Amino acid sequence: MKIICIGRNYIDHAKELNNPVPEKPVFFMKPSTALLMPHNPFYYPDFTSELHYEAEIVLKVCRNGRSISQKFAPDYYQEITVGIDFTARDLQDECKKNGLPWEIAKAFDASAPVGRFVDKSRFDDLSRLNFGLKINDEWKQKGNSSDMIFSFDNIIAYVSRFVTLRQGDLIFTGTPAGVGPTKIGDHFELFLEEEKLLSFYVK
Ligand code: MG
Repeated sequence: MKIICIGRNYIDHAKELNNPVPEKPVFFMKPSTALLMPHNPFYYPDFTSELHYEAEIVLKVCRNGRSISQKFAPDYYQEITVGIDFTARDLQDECKKNGLPWEIAKAFDASAPVGRFVDKSRFDDLSRLNFGLKINDEWKQKGNSSDMIFSFDNIIAYVSRFVTLRQGDLIFTGTPAGVGPTKIGDHFELFLEEEKLLSFYVK
């Protein structure tokens, strides 16, 4: 499986990092070794001193497809959750400055903790989903899928023109404003609507 991540999908987040608001979805990938399953501890990597959290809604691809039209995109995901796109911001800033790829900043082991998946049918409107991140009991990020620049269906249509989607692939759909640094000892809790779907400690 692979993990596809959308960058700059919320205007207020693009602005907080001084990035332009994109006209097309921006995506990058993390390998399967980036996945951190629920209930596993996360260890602060030794190669960064500025590890940032980015809370995101995550889709699980449920059938194979390529060049999927937006109209049929909903048939390609059935379960959703929340996750963290961990980013070594210091390394990413260096990559950006030098025009280099982002892998060392984004694709490292355990950089993609994901929560328990729930069936999308339990939500009335996927285009108005609340999600959020608490660290040490304090709200750090609150988002709503209605603020995405590119919708879930839009993302699936766009990405699948370039990359075949396979059953089991994950799609991180972008983070709202409020990203920031984390430290050893932090307790992460992620929510989709009222439900807590992921929690872990940084060790
Ligand atoms: Mg992200």
